[in-house]
Amino acid sequence: MILKMPWIDRGRCDRKLDCAAARVCPRGALEVGPESEEEEGRASEYPLVDLEHCRRCGDCAKACPEGAVKMV
Ligand code: SF4
Repeated sequence: MILKMPWIDRGRCDRKLDCAAARVCPRGALEVGPESEEEEGRASEYPLVDLEHCRRCGDCAKACPEGAVKMV
């Protein structure tokens, strides 16, 4: 069986520093930041998935209010 992995849809992600998907991850596998100098409360980059630590549980995809994390 091939497990799906999280993928960030850049068309939906708001790059919030307080990323709900990152907060819920039990492994700390979604890396958010650094803070944008131009946009308050937002990161300058989209979140990165650390595939070494991700256990492919899908909790991040369920937690994102924008539907920006998809298991693919
Ligand atoms: S699939 Fe699970 S372990 Fe992987 S980044 Fe999402 S919440 Fe974290």
